[in-house]
Amino acid sequence: MSRRPIIAGNWKMNKGIKEANELIESLKPLVKDATAECVFCPPFIDLPDAVRLTKDTNIEIGAQNMHWEEAGAFTGEIAGEMLKAIGVKFVIIGHSERREYFNETDETVNKKTIKALKLGLKPITCCGETLEQRESGKAKDIVVNQIKNGLKDIDDITAVVIAYEPIWAIGTGKTASNAEANEACGWVRETIGEMYGPEAAEGVRIQYGGSVKPGNVVALMEEPNIDGALVGGASLTADFAKIVKFDAQA
Ligand code: PEP
Repeated sequence: MSRRPIIAGNWKMNKGIKEANELIESLKPLVKDATAECVFCPPFIDLPDAVRLTKDTNIEIGAQNMHWEEAGAFTGEIAGEMLKAIGVKFVIIGHSERREYFNETDETVNKKTIKALKLGLKPITCCGETLEQRESGKAKDIVVNQIKNGLKDIDDITAVVIAYEPIWAIGTGKTASNAEANEACGWVRETIGEMYGPEAAEGVRIQYGGSVKPGNVVALMEEPNIDGALVGGASLTADFAKIVKFDAQA
């Protein structure tokens, strides 16, 4: 089974509406011939314009978080239903920054992923170990547990995109070596195989994330277990098109 590559940009808490619209307009012509699936995940406030501006293009829009409840007393939260209603297609779930600063756990990641799928939103569900966990030889256990707990009881696991993001490589300029990234994405694939069978393992798409840039994306994409990238810092300029097109030279 061939897996279509998927490159997603996580803009985090960057770019207000005007700047977001300008970036989208500048990227539209640059990514239009990309073979990879191309997803932009701007802040919530930018989403309605982002959906409107990318209508009839090859760019899909994702949110950076959602709540699993439909409505209620959850100050500051956004429901998956609300995202769906405005035409958002993807949602990042359980990013390490959400886990670290907003107390997200494998349990909430699981609830959100299940709810996103129920609504027809495509989750990009994140996992990854800290530097301390890697240095003490616990990386595999951590990642396997995050997958077992965060992605249990899923009806169609191949509808989930899994992002393996070693926390020590996020925003640090330090990339995991290609072999390290591929090995960890392999742990994820193997675990999906144990949970959901070999076809699911073969079909599920796994991204690497952590300081991906035009200069390293090509080699990362050559690794057999890596089907794409979740990109933070380097998704904030028109250079993101070089990543989407795996074009180190462009
Ligand atoms: C991220 O935040 O998901 C990420 C990978 O960030 P960066 O590309 O900046 O390391």
